[in-house]
Amino acid sequence: MQKRIAIALPKGGVGKTTTALNLAASLAISEKKTLLIDFDPSGTCTACMGYRSYELKGDIFQVFSFTKSIENVIHNTELPNLDFIPCQISSSEIEERVARITRNIYLFENILNLEPLMKYDYIIIDCPPYLSGLTTIALSAVNSVILPVKAGHFSIMALLKMNSHIKWVKENINRNLEIEGILLTMYESKTKAWELTRKAINRYFENHVMKTIIPKNISLTEAEFYRKPSVIIDGSARGSVAYKKLASEIIEKNSEKKEYSKIVPS
Ligand code: ATP
Ligand code: MG
Repeated sequence: MQKRIAIALPKGGVGKTTTALNLAASLAISEKKTLLIDFDPSGTCTACMGYRSYELKGDIFQVFSFTKSIENVIHNTELPNLDFIPCQISSSEIEERVARITRNIYLFENILNLEPLMKYDYIIIDCPPYLSGLTTIALSAVNSVILPVKAGHFSIMALLKMNSHIKWVKENINRNLEIEGILLTMYESKTKAWELTRKAINRYFENHVMKTIIPKNISLTEAEFYRKPSVIIDGSARGSVAYKKLASEIIEKNSEKKEYSKIVPS
């Protein structure tokens, strides 16, 4: 069964795009047919995937506005199991238009249900650093959400805000939405900031923290200069190894669920 995962938190610079890119590439390396969607108007994910605007055939928001079909916006990548749908918003006028067309909360789910997307085992969606609009639309259409956090009091505030929003989306739009997990990113052991952050996370969300921890690792930033996910450039870097472990954790959890649902049909 296909799994759709949004990467979201209403706070900038916590590692959402880095997670989306490297998790999607790691799932593909593990032979899972994966689609990565850039859902952030900043287009960082698209830039980090190495696309220049003149090379793009179209983007996700052109599917929203019915100017392109879904087949026409899917881009191949150097990994045979990884496809990509970019985001190409070149002016504030287009961003305004996108804000209007994405008001239809069920449109994205309808797009994800289109036949050409059925072949993917995983769909990973990189969300913008705010809650309203695009993030809500993404949460309405996915099975689960990964919440990347870095050390700091404001990460905890963002998590609490996100948690209430997830509850609201579950009650009002998508009752099947689950928290896949809180992902500790840019982790530095033996630091006071992380000790305090982990204590606060454990107090509020003990059961939701993912087993895999992403360490602070400069290779993940260096990869941006090569415009490729770090797991493709240097699979043995600490950050890359951690993201491959995260993919295995998710695949394992998913297969456990499948086995369980065979025994206990819902
Ligand atoms: P935004 O909210 O602006 O979209 P984001 O949450 O998507 O930001 P990223 O762009 O993924 O965050 O990461 C922010 C910065 O932190 C980038 O420069 C990235 O290279 C760096 N970074 C991300 N994860 C790590 C890590 N584990 N170790 C070191 N640097 C990291
Ligand atoms: Mg981002």
